[in-house]
Amino acid sequence: MSAQALNLAPGVDLNVDLHCHSTVSDGVLAPAEVAQRAYAQGVNVWALTDHDEVGGIVAAREAATDLGMDYVTGLEISVTWANKTIHIVGLNIDETNPDLLAGLVKTRSGRQCRAEDMAADLARIGIPNCYEGALKYVGNPDLISRSHFARYLVEIGVCENVSAVFKSYLADGKPGFVPHRWATLPEAVGWIVGAGGVAVVAHPGRYDLTPLAFDAFFNEFKNLGGKAIEVVTGSHTADQYDEYAKIANRYGFMASRGSDFHAPDENLPDLGQLPALSKNLTPVWHSWIK
Ligand code: AMP
Ligand code: MN
Ligand code: MN
Ligand code: MN
Repeated sequence: MSAQALNLAPGVDLNVDLHCHSTVSDGVLAPAEVAQRAYAQGVNVWALTDHDEVGGIVAAREAATDLGMDYVTGLEISVTWANKTIHIVGLNIDETNPDLLAGLVKTRSGRQCRAEDMAADLARIGIPNCYEGALKYVGNPDLISRSHFARYLVEIGVCENVSAVFKSYLADGKPGFVPHRWATLPEAVGWIVGAGGVAVVAHPGRYDLTPLAFDAFFNEFKNLGGKAIEVVTGSHTADQYDEYAKIANRYGFMASRGSDFHAPDENLPDLGQLPALSKNLTPVWHSWIK
């Protein structure tokens, strides 16, 4: 199966949410439950974008179709660029593409060892049994994530919420952070484009890069065939909506909108609740309107 033309109805005010997670990665709801929640929040064009995984797509697509939402096949690939972790969303991919699938297996493969190393580091600072604790929150044995550790650390009262856990224990430079090599940028963009999809820089405002490094990154992404950046995302402030709208237009990128929803009551906004993209942007879904 190849990537689909979506045939979205023209002239309709669309509520588009093209970034969220299920239990197949580090969300807490099953794919069909995320679909139901998106629908209940008024979303009519929806993508599930699990980290480094396509295992939730069949159930998500079926649930979305039953509810009458337009479904966009998606994922979010973890990349290491200049020693920083960057996330690249792929949209309207063929999720059965063999090169993409092999690339995702490779990208996921280091997570197990990394999790054991994280647990050893946390044990050294006096927080034992975190690997077993995190496992209680894992929905997919191939995808143990920092989010699962964060939920366990909240459960045992180390911090009040997952944001605080990241701040004190799991962010780069903190005692439970284990450096990791993910896919390269050429690999991730290549897998997405090779699977017929559109590559989108996820939440660019989250990356700790100098203006010079950002410029090099956006140019490299574009030269590799990257086409879009997230402008309106749960990870951006209102000022960053403006900042990345300007950047989208400066580099000729299309713009995307997505909540990055993981769980009710965790730090990000709910599905479909963010402001619309400003009118001077080209939405990434523009070319899918019939
Ligand atoms: P991993 O892929 O295991 O490195 O985990 C990355 C995930 O951790 C992200 O996709 C977010 O869901 C979560 N995360 C990263 N930073 C934060 C933060 N500051 N607050 C809450 N969640 C975060
Ligand atoms: Mn996540
Ligand atoms: Mn991300
Ligand atoms: Mn995400």
